[in-house]
Amino acid sequence: MSRGFNPPAQNWLVGHRGVDLPASQGDSVFSAGSGTVTFASVLAGRGVVVVTHGLLRTTYEPVAASVAVGQTVRSGQMIGTLQPGVSHCSVNHTVTCLHWGLLRGRVYMNPLSLVQVRLLPLYSAQ
Ligand SMILES: [Zn+2]
Repeated sequence: MSRGFNPPAQNWLVGHRGVDLPASQGDSVFSAGSGTVTFASVLAGRGVVVVTHGLLRTTYEPVAASVAVGQTVRSGQMIGTLQPGVSHCSVNHTVTCLHWGLLRGRVYMNPLSLVQVRLLPLYSAQ
């Protein structure tokens, strides 16, 4: 992990609403759990994929989606590849990480809380 979860004290303040996992452009991104794709498009200059798992949603960026809204995905199913975009994970058009977020309603949670059940959105290509 290259940057940890650091949610702001108030919603309008700057913080880090997720975790960054070191990665490179073109790396495959996998859904951290089974669910339904509820967003797969470009948002504010970077590709974003959102998978809804019941009450929870996981977000992945900057990602070129290979899935469509409404599609059901399994845990570990590929949902896209990393690509440069307007993101702190993309510097000078070079991708350095996957920003992975977890939401319950409008509340950001630490996605590493999911890792205890061996769910990770990014698997090494090696
Ligand atoms: Zn981040």
